[in-house]
Amino acid sequence: MKLYCALCGRATRNPAVLIGQEPVGPKCARKANLLPLSRRSGSRVRSLLPVKIERRDSRNLDLFEVEP
Ligand SMILES: [Zn+2]
Repeated sequence: MKLYCALCGRATRNPAVLIGQEPVGPKCARKANLLPLSRRSGSRVRSLLPVKIERRDSRNLDLFEVEP
């Protein structure tokens, strides 16, 4: 399935955000300042970029990690 950027109409392989159902490429998302918007709660702009999970802060051991 080909995705087309909602802002510039160019095909985008890795959309950075979705506005409703419309994908927006990473460059346009940055230019239009959509990334901060996507972090707001209740926003229709959803970020598709992977969310960084701070694993070292968690008390769980990594999978296959041996307890010292
Ligand atoms: Zn675009």
